[in-house]
Order: sequence, then C-alpha cells, then structure tokens
Amino acid sequence: MHDLVGADGPRILSISNQKGGVGKTTTAINLAAALVELGARVLLVDLDPQGNASTGLGFAPGEREKTTYDLLLDEAPLVEVVVSTEFSGLLLCPSSADLSSADIQLVSNEKRSFLLHDALREPRVNHLDLDFILIDCPPSLSLLTINAMVASHAVLVPLQAEFFALEGLSQLMLTIREVRRSANPGLRIEGVVLTMMDGRNRLSQHVEQDARATLGDLVFKTMIPRNVRLSEAPSYAQPVLSYDSASKGAEAYRALGTEILQRHPLRTRFKQEIV
Ligand code: ADP
Ligand code: MG
Repeated sequence: MHDLVGADGPRILSISNQKGGVGKTTTAINLAAALVELGARVLLVDLDPQGNASTGLGFAPGEREKTTYDLLLDEAPLVEVVVSTEFSGLLLCPSSADLSSADIQLVSNEKRSFLLHDALREPRVNHLDLDFILIDCPPSLSLLTINAMVASHAVLVPLQAEFFALEGLSQLMLTIREVRRSANPGLRIEGVVLTMMDGRNRLSQHVEQDARATLGDLVFKTMIPRNVRLSEAPSYAQPVLSYDSASKGAEAYRALGTEILQRHPLRTRFKQEIV
C-alpha cells in the first residue's frame, strides 16, 4: 500500500512503548531529522512531561515559551506553540513538566482523549505544509499516550533488544485495540523497530529472531545499532545526523526514514521556492 504523504495533511505517527529507556525519544528525534534530510517537512511533538526530545533539540525547560501543555489544556493553537530548531527544516512542539498533571486536570473533560487530535487538525496547521508529525510519547499508557494514538494514523514501536522484550508488547497492543474500538478505527501499527542492537551479541540475535517470528512484516528491516554517538548527540542539542553524520546511528535512522518513505512517498512540490 502506498499512501501519498501530504495529499490530505501530514502522516501522523505516535512513537510509543510504555517501557522507559527503549529508544522512543532517540527514535523520535533522529527519525524526524532523517525524514527532513530526505526532503520531508516534519514536526516533532514532545508529549512526554520529562521533555527529553525538547532538551535534546536545544530547548531547555526555561527557554520554552508555549508548550504542549498550552496546546492541550489552554487551547493554544499549534502554530503559536511550534518553534524552529537548529536542524533546519525540523519543527518542534516543546513539552513542559506541567503536562504530568494533565491526567488529573482533564478527568472531567468530555473531550479529554481528543485534545491532540483536534489541535493537530486545526485549519491553520495547513500553513505549516507538513509531511509528517511524529509524537514522542511518555513511558506509560496514560491519557497523554491515548491522546497521541487517537490523533495518529499509526503507531511506531521501538523495541529494545533485551530479555523479555516482547512481553511488554501485549499491553501496548491491547491499548491500540481499545483506541481503535472507542475512537480511532483506522489506527494502524506502522511497525516495530529494534533498537540498541548489537549484531555480535547472541541476545540481540535471539530478540530479532523472536520478533520476526512473532510479528512478521511488522518488524522494520532496518535495525538501530547500539551506538555511543546516539547517546552523546542530545547533550550537544543535536540529532545524530548533524552531530556525527557518518556514524552508524545516523546511517541507521536514514535507512529507517527511507523505509518509511518507500511506503509513504512524498508528494511532489511545485515551485514552492518562489513564494
Ligand atoms: P525512551 O525515550 O524510550 O525513554 P531514550 O531514547 O531516551 O528512551 O533512550 C534511553 C537511553 O538510551 C538514552 O540515554 C539514550 O541516549 C540511549 N540510547 C537510545 N538508543 C540508543 C542506541 N541505539 N545506542 C546507544 N544508546 C542509545
Ligand atoms: Mg523518552
């Protein structure tokens, strides 16, 4: 199936796994940057109160004016929350620690699961002319993650190569099924990407075999190696693609971006440079 990206608004992907430390934020930042390098216009929405994606792109907590908190709880329009990053072409909707209270604050709000969905579909968002919106989810299946899934076309799941890697997936799959049933019947699974792989390590090989046997084509061909450059880049406030463009981590995220664009080719843009 080939969806033409951008034909009817951007393709929206939740980067989600309720386990912490599996590579969600690393994937969100670097896949977003890779898609930009490949010619896409991309917005990264940081939906984790910890704000690692924002910090990793150079937006320290004190420097964020409006945040996803304002977007969800104060109805600030997306165009007023979005900031440009140093990585040219990559836009960011920064997060705020205040988001951690969203679940409680929204308990009596009838539209509480649809806040991000509505914010991303507000008409002025078209002016941003986006091809992709990637949502970096918190490490939980909270209301914030539900908002991401309700707003998304598909979920991209980073899976860390470790013991019991697949065990946590059933909870995530149940949540996806519940979101499909209650709010977003079209929600798909974009794919599972194996992260922190060490090709020479037996455990990594076992996890790969298990994942491919159980999940089949849902597992991306591209696997992300364990690469120290990936863990260094955020402290330089950059994606690895600019921090060390030739690193194995950068190459891997480029390959993942290419795999996604093969499924969802970019529409051709005509003469937009003129305006
Ligand atoms: P999550 O967002 O799921 O909590 P992160 O992306 O923040 O996970 O990754 C957890 C830690 O592992 C971070 O310190 C990150 O820099 C590091 N990390 C993630 N992916 C890799 C990788 N492929 N190689 C080396 N370190 C990685
Ligand atoms: Mg994270």
